Amino acid sequence: MKYTDLNIQTQREFPNNARTQGFGWLVRAGYLTRESEILPLGRQAISRLRLVSEDPSFLFHLALPILLNDRETFFPLSTGNLEILHCESCKYSERLELALFKKTVLPREEKLPLEKVSTPDCNTIESLAEFLGVPKEKTAKAMMYTRVSDGQFVFVVVRGDMQMSEAKLRNAVGEVKLADEESIRRAGAEAGFASPIGLQNALIVADELIPRSPNLVAGANDAGYHFKNTNYARDYSAGIVADVTQARAGDACNNCGNPLSMLSAISLTTRSEFQFQNILLALAETHHDEKGLALPKSIAPFDVYLMHVPGKTINTLEKAGEIYNALQSAGISVLFDNRDERAGVKFNDADLIGCPIRITAGEKALKDEMVELKFRTAAGGSVLPVEKILSLKDISELF
Ligand SMILES: [Zn+2]
Repeated sequence: MKYTDLNIQTQREFPNNARTQGFGWLVRAGYLTRESEILPLGRQAISRLRLVSEDPSFLFHLALPILLNDRETFFPLSTGNLEILHCESCKYSERLELALFKKTVLPREEKLPLEKVSTPDCNTIESLAEFLGVPKEKTAKAMMYTRVSDGQFVFVVVRGDMQMSEAKLRNAVGEVKLADEESIRRAGAEAGFASPIGLQNALIVADELIPRSPNLVAGANDAGYHFKNTNYARDYSAGIVADVTQARAGDACNNCGNPLSMLSAISLTTRSEFQFQNILLALAETHHDEKGLALPKSIAPFDVYLMHVPGKTINTLEKAGEIYNALQSAGISVLFDNRDERAGVKFNDADLIGCPIRITAGEKALKDEMVELKFRTAAGGSVLPVEKILSLKDISELF
């Protein structure tokens, strides 16, 4: 493809909104706009990635520091839109809202009698725990939803020191929305003082820790009152007992007990679907130097950056055109910089765009029927007979 056909516009300066190097280089090299919109060169890069992705293991050959589980592949990136929890020890990696973790079980206790106590103005777990002088883990926290598919009222109870995960809840019961006043009232619950005890037609979902947490303070479904010493099984039971709480950084890995750490990341694959723009960004983050991108063979939008240096005595453009046609016929992927620009401008652009090989048709070498060949990651170049380039059958002959 010709440089001018792709309408490539490289930029002199890093965009001032570039929060990562990779993004900055993709904008400077003309793959993306500052607003992350894909430009023709970026589309070319992505269509190349699509080709190589026919081998689904290709991601593992890109030397990217990826983290993965059986559904998703992540690339850690400070500006990433995902929060993931990761175990350094066993490499467990999962989105924050779905991560499994080892929960701290409270010591066994004898079940004490249920006791209704006045708790005025205690409609948060914090105010309740402080008012009654109990730790938050000795309280039960309630959340109320309506299941979207059938309107079923869903009452969720988790320990007061934990946070519910809506993603895990959805996995347990299906899509939900917050319950409205009417359905809360109909179930016999009282917002702010809600309890799983004595509800009507409610699907109760208890976090797996609840049956193992004795004598919890919970609402009394009566404004201004709570129960002390509620006990699962004796006072109420749940239709579903499941893991519905969210892990935090520092919680113990469910596999090996090592503390989980939190990372920002982008997703490269979800199930079998590749997120090509994210893969391009991950490649740019990983493969660049101080001059621009330096992409590996068959992952770069083109394997060869071919250019001519306008000459005085030889028609270098015509020579480069012959080489271009020969490489194209051999099925080699070439970007032909056919612009009538100074060598320095073209060398800079070649470095920015980052194709693995640059071939330069300049007057000096052409006098000896040679062209210059330079690998993007090498310091200097070498010369090769034009004949050799014209008879190439495969790009790997040059590597
Ligand atoms: Zn682990």
